[in-house]
Amino acid sequence: MDFSLTEQQRMFCDSVATFARKELADGALARAHTPEFPRDVARLMAGAGLLGITIPEQDGGTGGTLMDAVLAIEQVARFCPRSADAVAEGSFGAIRVLAHFGTSDQKRRYLEPLLKGDELIVVAMTEPDAGSATTDLKTTATPDGKGFRINGSKVFPNPFADQYLVYVRYGPGVDGIGSVLLRRNAQGFSIGKPSKFMSGANWAPIFFENVYIPPEDVLLPAGGFKKQMAGFNVERIGNATRSLSYGQYCFDAAREYATTRKQFGRALCEFQGLQWKFADMKLKLDAARLLLYRAATNADRGLPSPDETTIAKLMCNQAGFEVANEALQVMGGLGYTEETLVEYCVRRSRGWMIAGGSIEMLKNRLAESIFERRFSQRPPRPPKEG
Ligand SMILES: Cc1cc2nc3c(=O)[nH]c(=O)nc-3n(C[C@H](O)[C@H](O)[C@H](O)COP(=O)(O)OP(=O)(O)OC[C@H]3O[C@@H](n4cnc5c(N)ncnc54)[C@H](O)[C@@H]3O)c2cc1C
Repeated sequence: MDFSLTEQQRMFCDSVATFARKELADGALARAHTPEFPRDVARLMAGAGLLGITIPEQDGGTGGTLMDAVLAIEQVARFCPRSADAVAEGSFGAIRVLAHFGTSDQKRRYLEPLLKGDELIVVAMTEPDAGSATTDLKTTATPDGKGFRINGSKVFPNPFADQYLVYVRYGPGVDGIGSVLLRRNAQGFSIGKPSKFMSGANWAPIFFENVYIPPEDVLLPAGGFKKQMAGFNVERIGNATRSLSYGQYCFDAAREYATTRKQFGRALCEFQGLQWKFADMKLKLDAARLLLYRAATNADRGLPSPDETTIAKLMCNQAGFEVANEALQVMGGLGYTEETLVEYCVRRSRGWMIAGGSIEMLKNRLAESIFERRFSQRPPRPPKEG
């Protein structure tokens, strides 16, 4: 067991930090208050080899490890929290599902522009009546010739993405679920009234009215859902890393502030009431980071553990938000303004306690592992008569 980064990892961190300080630190505040995804940053990241870190080289990625992606997100977020999204979206989630399950033709048409930073893909999974109960989704894929017709609606995705990885129902039950790929200009695809999350980012309902999906745009046929969910655990590392990084950003900002801001003729850091806050924040960040690195490193060693990823996401989501919130308190009125990025990090980290597996659903998962049995969340079936 070794709790230190390797020499190579430390050098990688230094070079990403140098890049982020030079290219991204200026404009970090403005970027955080821009609802659209930072596409200019994504292109910059592509040029710097920070998109597709976890994607194999033969698919156009850089063939790095999950740990490399974790470290890159952390380093970028130190200088520009919003830009860390570009690294995360380029290494975790929909892009990896596409790289893992896509055909070579799909990779050429869909993955290539993502890895250049020219396009953005998002997952369209949540529906008005299927949130935590994902498998209740109703969007249908009905055979039409060799392809399918898609009908239904989704909520919460970014309405300005170029590509959507849409979860659909080919037939009844969990085994009837799979996914398709489509572009925003597909005939019959429309976007409802855009709204905003608390973070300031856009979302909108999206609608599919008889959208034709040719056979070559089917990503996963019926039965694909379970396959996809098995790999999905690892994807949670991307979300967990951003939570942790946002907490760390706020901790660093509050620490700096506490050494310079004076009240009652003393620096804030001299008040024990605040020193203990810092001790608690440090405890949470260190614990979360260790759990995150354990999950990422073991997954890299070919030992991905759904429990470790679940625990890492739970801890990072909670620590990230709690530390950001406490750092805001330390910074007083200034922390509550838009003059610093601390209030943004509080709002942003709050969302990750809901997205990508809510705190409650992850605890349900963990409880099942602890007791080695399934706890159905569905109402009990009425006893059969007679
Ligand atoms: C910032 C953000 C970005 C998102 N981006 C996307 C996206 O790109 N694409 C997409 O498809 N979706 C996206 N979502 C949607 C997200 O996946 C859902 O919000 C999430 O799955 C929860 O579903 P829900 O909002 O319908 O809440 P509900 O399922 O209605 O749950 C409400 C509350 O009840 C709790 N709960 C539900 N069931 C149980 C249970 N059995 N036991 C204990 N507690 C329970 C939940 O944890 C939650 O706290 C995003 C959400 C957020 C906040």
